[in-house]
Amino acid sequence: MKLQYHTAFSAVIAGILYMTFKSWGLAAACFISGIVIDLDHIIDVVREHGWSVKTKEFFRICHTAQFDRIFLLWHGWEWLVICAIAAWATEWNPWITGTLIGITFHMILDSYQNSLNLRTYSLIWRWKNDFVFDVVFPKLLPVKYKNHNRSSKLEK
Ligand SMILES: [Zn+2]
Repeated sequence: MKLQYHTAFSAVIAGILYMTFKSWGLAAACFISGIVIDLDHIIDVVREHGWSVKTKEFFRICHTAQFDRIFLLWHGWEWLVICAIAAWATEWNPWITGTLIGITFHMILDSYQNSLNLRTYSLIWRWKNDFVFDVVFPKLLPVKYKNHNRSSKLEK
């Protein structure tokens, strides 16, 4: 999902949290984490396209899914479990709980938009599939190959 939608959605959820719980930490953590989680795309873009990619090109690569492999380090249900345990263990520290809420909504939106099944956003499942983009994101293949005459370097 595009950055502006995540920003808008995170702002709405953060606003609701603030109005409900009157906690700036909770709201700020939700807002920030719901956006910052997407910074892991930088790792994948640099790994596949090098350091010279400019901002506009960066977004084109992401929006047209120009990846042979995709790690998406921070996009994993496994992090939600760890974050939920941390929130519980700290008696719902507002910053950790806000982060949990922010990344949960982010992952639900990404999952709804980009994936045919929930496994796509499991780090362990992607790892089992060697992080091969075409295997883990089959729903995005029309986007990836539309107008691009791109063939995967992984094809033999
Ligand atoms: Zn995302």
